[in-house]
Amino acid sequence: GPVLSFENVHFHYDPDRPILKGVSFTVPAGKTIAVVGPSGAGKSTISRLIYRFYDAIAGSISIDGQNVSDVTQASLRAAIGMVPQDTVLFNDTIAYNIRYGRPDATDEEVREAARMAQIGDFIDSLPHGYETQVGERGLKLSGGEKQRVAIARTILKAPPILILDEATSALDTHTEREIQSALDTVSRDRTTLVIAHRLSTVVDADEIIVLRDGMIAERGRHADLLAAK
Ligand code: ADP
Ligand code: ADP
Repeated sequence: GPVLSFENVHFHYDPDRPILKGVSFTVPAGKTIAVVGPSGAGKSTISRLIYRFYDAIAGSISIDGQNVSDVTQASLRAAIGMVPQDTVLFNDTIAYNIRYGRPDATDEEVREAARMAQIGDFIDSLPHGYETQVGERGLKLSGGEKQRVAIARTILKAPPILILDEATSALDTHTEREIQSALDTVSRDRTTLVIAHRLSTVVDADEIIVLRDGMIAERGRHADLLAAK
């Protein structure tokens, strides 16, 4: 898999308020690195910069040594699968939404991804809720269900790089456990960046980076960070 690297990355939305103040880390090929830290620390900003929703102000973000700003949007999107915090769905069937990103997938593959993400019962429904003239109702997905659609899409796409931004934050504990194992399966041997609120959800990461006030405050394996407390 590819290597994903941040080198002295600086970022702000507002020049008076720096968000990332020189962040450097490497996700080695096929490994999983987790970023944890308090709310507002800049964790999601890191995922937005990789996907180039925004560009870094200084420093560089690279994939296999190539700066992401020199890569076309299309190849960036082909290489990266992202489960964002808030998923926006197309007003089309769940199956359509899952297939987005891999139009060649067979119905069977779509169904299997949906099943792994625990959303198999819904695939022919519409996500936003609707009412027909005769009063039939379509589905209106909860935040957790939408998140599962994004997870199914990512399972199906199985891209070389995965960014899981609090990918299970909207799920109840039982569903979270089930889906975590599906995510573990897709992330195996893929270059993966996990963004998480809690240290307890990233036990198996190859390295954990603790972000505080836009800087890396600590880094290490799960056991090391627990021991440091
Ligand atoms: P985290 O994921 O660690 O909770 P974020 O990366 O989402 O933190 O946000 C870091 C800081 O940047 C927060 O204080 C947040 O309010 C601010 N922020 C996030 N997005 C924007 C934006 N689009 N415009 C201005 N400020 C933002
Ligand atoms: P693209 O350029 O591939 O359309 P976007 O930047 O629009 O990608 O969005 C990033 C990711 O968010 C996409 O790969 C897709 O998974 C998802 N996405 C974007 N727009 C929508 C949408 N309207 N409905 C559902 N998912 C979307």
